[in-house]
Amino acid sequence: MKESLLQALDGLETQLEEALAQAQSESDLLQIKGRFLGKKGELAQVLSAMGRLSAEERPQVGVKANQVKEALCSRLQSSLQGFQQKVLDQALASDHFDITLPGVPVEFSSMHPLIQVLEEINTLFRRLGFEVRYGPEIEDEYHNFEALNIPEDHPARDEQDTFYLKTGRLLRTHTSTVQIRVMETEKPPIKMIAPGTVYRSDHDLTHSPMFHQVEGLWVDRGIHFGHLKGVLKLFVKSFFGSETNLRFRASYFPFTEPSAELDVSCVFCHAKKSACPVCKDTGWLEVLGCGMVDPNVFEKVGLDPQVYSGFAFGMGVERMAMLKLGIPDLRLFFENDLRFLKQF
Ligand SMILES: [Zn+2]
Repeated sequence: MKESLLQALDGLETQLEEALAQAQSESDLLQIKGRFLGKKGELAQVLSAMGRLSAEERPQVGVKANQVKEALCSRLQSSLQGFQQKVLDQALASDHFDITLPGVPVEFSSMHPLIQVLEEINTLFRRLGFEVRYGPEIEDEYHNFEALNIPEDHPARDEQDTFYLKTGRLLRTHTSTVQIRVMETEKPPIKMIAPGTVYRSDHDLTHSPMFHQVEGLWVDRGIHFGHLKGVLKLFVKSFFGSETNLRFRASYFPFTEPSAELDVSCVFCHAKKSACPVCKDTGWLEVLGCGMVDPNVFEKVGLDPQVYSGFAFGMGVERMAMLKLGIPDLRLFFENDLRFLKQF
């Protein structure tokens, strides 16, 4: 019995060599592996017969069986590596890579022109010490109107101008709401700008129902109109160029008193006032509204108007971008036409 098992074990290596000589592919190899080393393979059959050996014979056959198993495994492994190397060699011999060919170009995207201009405005005010603050786009009537001294019968509160939600809330019509929220919770000095998206029920050549604003606020003891003029002059000359002139025209806003509109000298005709469709030959372009914070607004947020004063201003980012980049139609910003966007 013992002799026949030892013989069978000896024979396995020769049988494996014969089988490997016939193998054509990696899958042939796997089949051979199963045939010899599988659960019901040749080796397993020999091992299962060991149970019938005597206690003395068993270790002798066992040692031999382990040697044969190791030999089979390593032979199969080297054979497998040989096949893989052959496949790789064939692939390398048949494929040709020209490493001097130029690569596939990667197209870089760029920032949307509106965001570029918005970032520039933010950066200029940050340099002047203004902090960038954000607030919710869904607001309540109090923060959007009442706290800003806009009475209930004011036309701005009309449903035709404001998007009201079913909950009674609304989409903010300006980012002045952020100024109110900051003043409610923080003590002056407050020096901030609030950039963001605002919504109005308006849609034509020069109006979009969604647009962007940057509103600014500086509140402290002793802030006066001179500070307002100084800050806006620095901003305008940095944004449109140092040769730009500016003028203030008296105006009215519910939340500032006195209020003014700021005009800059026309950046298209350079104030030559002839055949300029943008400034309509006036030489001036209206760019933003501003004024000293109305004492009523201070009272709403719990600040003493006898102690504090401040100025506020607000501008439309689309308009600033149209003037700065010479874009004639507001709708171009929102059509996502790559031919347009790639120019910036
Ligand atoms: Zn002009």
